[in-house]
Amino acid sequence: MKNLRKGDEILFRFVRRNMESMAARYRLPLKRVLPLEKENCARYFGRCEKDGTIFVRVRNASKDGRWKGIDEPYQIIDTMSHELAHLITLDHTQQWFDLHIMILGDMSGRRVFHILTSFHEQRHR
Ligand SMILES: [Zn+2]
Repeated sequence: MKNLRKGDEILFRFVRRNMESMAARYRLPLKRVLPLEKENCARYFGRCEKDGTIFVRVRNASKDGRWKGIDEPYQIIDTMSHELAHLITLDHTQQWFDLHIMILGDMSGRRVFHILTSFHEQRHR
């Protein structure tokens, strides 16, 4: 994964694995999950394409790649569910929002958030 900084691959793989299992659980047409390219990521955290490819970034676009404090796990888990919900529609409709919130709650219940918090603490120690 050439777009990832050293040390971010384990985090990205964790994100991808959880997105794949959520997609299977909700029967969403996920094709693949890829890291968002650094030069392309200043304005958003993820992107979903028509063919079911989702791009997610695990680093902020700022120089040191950090979010402020605990924002990081929140941001990543929010991006994961936001983009997964786009697999049913690319627009921000009520249907998209309902699925986004459902997946977000589901992942929180599965301790995904707590694990992302551990990654954050370990990466920015
Ligand atoms: Zn969106």
